[in-house]
Amino acid sequence: MGFSTDAIHAGQKPDLETGAVITPVYMTSTYAQEELGVHKGYEYGRTHNFTRAAYEKNVAVLEKGKYGIAFSSGLSAVNAIMSLVKAGDHVIVGDNVYGGTYRLLELVLKNYGLDFSWIDTSEIDNLKKALKPNTKMVIIETPTNPMLTLTDISATAEFAKANNLISVVDNTFMSPYFQNPLTMGIDIVLHSATKYINGHSDVISGILITSDDKIYERLKYIQNAVGAVPSPFDCWLCLRSTKTLAVRMDRHNFNAQKVAEFLEKHPQVEKVIYPGLKSHPQYELAKKQMRGFGGMVSFLVRELEMTKSFLKKVSVFTLAESLGGVESLVCHPATMTHASVPKEKRESFGLTDTLIRLSVGIEDIEDLIADLEQALA
Ligand SMILES: *Cc1c(COP(=O)(O)O)cnc(C)c1O
Repeated sequence: MGFSTDAIHAGQKPDLETGAVITPVYMTSTYAQEELGVHKGYEYGRTHNFTRAAYEKNVAVLEKGKYGIAFSSGLSAVNAIMSLVKAGDHVIVGDNVYGGTYRLLELVLKNYGLDFSWIDTSEIDNLKKALKPNTKMVIIETPTNPMLTLTDISATAEFAKANNLISVVDNTFMSPYFQNPLTMGIDIVLHSATKYINGHSDVISGILITSDDKIYERLKYIQNAVGAVPSPFDCWLCLRSTKTLAVRMDRHNFNAQKVAEFLEKHPQVEKVIYPGLKSHPQYELAKKQMRGFGGMVSFLVRELEMTKSFLKKVSVFTLAESLGGVESLVCHPATMTHASVPKEKRESFGLTDTLIRLSVGIEDIEDLIADLEQALA
């Protein structure tokens, strides 16, 4: 089946009891058992929930994987991945991954005897150089936030296989519609479903997808043992949302391309970063491993004063953290999402104070361009 057909139908059948076309929200913490040891496979809500199972199956199909395992946030999904390694193990991580991932690994989990190397994964040679005898896992994010730097997914998978490492790709920015790392040999795909998968800025949720039976068994065990499960209602919202993922992503992509091209011609703009522009240094790689370029656009204005007045003057774009919703958002990474990253480190990968990040929504493109135009004037 095609992506949209799967998005609308995979994991879902009309309800057996009533014929309801939409999978119901099973708001229940426990299930009746007919007699001792006899039940319908459902015992307790943390372990089993029908709405969650439908959502997990749905996203697994969209990511071309066998299994989905849902969590209460993207970060609790990252935390579950880390249960696959143990004290004394070494993990290679991209140096420009989501700030919360950095915080969880470096400032929380490091205390449990894990060792992390933070490297620029856009150069595959750097992965090879970071390898240690106790390396067990490699985690990349592509494209990164907010610099939109790409890492070669197939090359990363090859490196991981050759060295017996578990490979993980945070695919939040592309969504399953534009990029499927499992098909390129990656072991685990991670999504903050808070972003494009749910897409309506009203849920915090995360999901992992894998086709590896052993990895699945462990992650499923951890999901229940740790208990960071999403609510049935959040699962229902995400399942409702994936039905429109394809049309939303097409529109995000269309609008972002137009916005990037508009900004690239604007005299107040010093530089635009968008993988769909020929000026992006990894444009060829983007075309190779992605089916679209997504809705995120970063750009640098010429002066710091301009940054402030721009953020004050935008009106269709809302000044806010997060991304991937239907509404357009603007953020200033240096003081918002990346404020905890030391200035020197930030600037070493180009994240300066004049950098502005847009999450381009699905509003009318004319209104978005007009808003940017008046804010830059
Ligand atoms: C938001 C985000 C996360 C964390 O997800 P939460 O749902 O906020 O916990 C992880 N990775 C990326 C790329 C993100 O954008």
